[in-house]
Amino acid sequence: MTRLIQRTELETYYYTPVHCPFCGVRVMGADPSDETRITACPHTLFIAHDTGFEYRSARLDHNLHLDGLSESEIEARWHEDARGIDGFTDTVCLPDAIKVAAYAPAPSAYGSYYGFAPEN
Ligand SMILES: [Zn+2]
Repeated sequence: MTRLIQRTELETYYYTPVHCPFCGVRVMGADPSDETRITACPHTLFIAHDTGFEYRSARLDHNLHLDGLSESEIEARWHEDARGIDGFTDTVCLPDAIKVAAYAPAPSAYGSYYGFAPEN
């Protein structure tokens, strides 16, 4: 059954490293020499922050009808959502897709968003 992506929110332990729920790959901070480096596994749909996407899979682009759009057009798309990239990535509709939203506490209120789905 296909439904909207399921959400999990991290608020207290927002800094916990996020691992793919389907294969266990640590998608962020796996490289000790560069903790901002991204390691996307085959299940990773997207990795994003409030300021933009760090990684988008072809499945995500297809699901959100971003195929063929330029980066600025894609940015305009998620800016249209009242909740920005967080709200926009909530509209993913793939079977058993899971999103982890990690919110750093105020005053930074900075969000990181990770989306995963099993392979077809
Ligand atoms: Zn994975």
